[in-house]
Amino acid sequence: NRQIRLAARPVGEVKPEDWEHRAEPVEEPGPGQFVGRTRVISLDPAMRGWLDDRPSYLPPVGLGEVMRAGSVIEVTASNHPDFRPGDHVVGTFGVQEYAVSDGRGAMKIDTSLAPASTYLGALGMPGMTAYFGLLDVGALRDGETVVVSGAAGAVGTIAGQIAKARGCRVVGIAGGPEKCGMLTGELGFDAAIDYRAEDVRKALREHAPDGIDVYFDNVGGDVLDAALTRLAMHARVVVCGAISQYNNATPVKGPSNYLSLLVRRARMEGFVVFDYAKRYAEAAQEISALIGAGRIKVKEHVVRGTVDDFPAALQMLFRGENVGKLVLELA
Ligand code: NDP
Repeated sequence: NRQIRLAARPVGEVKPEDWEHRAEPVEEPGPGQFVGRTRVISLDPAMRGWLDDRPSYLPPVGLGEVMRAGSVIEVTASNHPDFRPGDHVVGTFGVQEYAVSDGRGAMKIDTSLAPASTYLGALGMPGMTAYFGLLDVGALRDGETVVVSGAAGAVGTIAGQIAKARGCRVVGIAGGPEKCGMLTGELGFDAAIDYRAEDVRKALREHAPDGIDVYFDNVGGDVLDAALTRLAMHARVVVCGAISQYNNATPVKGPSNYLSLLVRRARMEGFVVFDYAKRYAEAAQEISALIGAGRIKVKEHVVRGTVDDFPAALQMLFRGENVGKLVLELA
């Protein structure tokens, strides 16, 4: 059972030496347990935060522990009444070839309805994040102007398309002309801003002339500062993530233009998707329906390899090398 374990707490960018590649015997399932072979592993920006020894919404991954990760496994042996060999199961099974589970936090999935990877993307945590972030935290109303940063990623592509399906004017912010072209072309966004090449503040003035009603922020930093200058009255700023700050070795940069919240009577609110677990079925149903109707196009970036490719694949997120949901599919 090849595994990736945390060897050292990274400072700044994660380095290859921060990981240990190890092989252990495959465990047999105990009473009430099942074991499965990993098929697809999710790569998430949040993983960077889990490596730091500081209080957060989850405890940090311990030194020497198997790296935490969402994945889909295929059951190979089971003493659990609800999980049979051949079943595909999504859960937090870690970066390893085989995982043992007692079923807690695990959910059987139907890979005839959607590929396993989609249960880690549009129908999984990122899809849930887009849905509840936009509709609950952002309190989106039909026809509003929505700006999404990290727009070409797992959460961003879904958030933007949900907003489009609700008749909103949607502006995406992403890195590079290819991602921007995909947003306005294939995904039907009204406009896209290449934050690497354009003056974001100026571009927002052009593309959101009446101001931003909902700003769905995945990146923080300078892009957040720019968006804050363009808020409409009673705007909602959804703090979903701040990937531009995750590798900082210095304190996170605060928003310099936050007083526009006062002037615009706006609010800024963070959230953690896990708090919505009881309502995942509702979101999954709506997202499935939108996919079925062709109103959400699912973008996935599949890296094929072994668990040993996990460290390099994780870094792709911080270099903007993924389009849509990034997963590692094991051969
Ligand atoms: P993505 O698929 O969006 O991948 C990350 C993307 O971030 C990259 O492709 C890159 O796109 C962009 N990026 C990387 N570095 C920077 C930078 N310095 N400045 C601006 N953009 C950068 O990841 P996810 O969709 O999985 O996650 C998006 C955000 O949502 C993250 O911040 C994550 O932490 C957050 N999140 C929050 C949850 C919650 O419960 N609150 C749950 C799940 C995710 P580009 O080429 O455009 O730069």
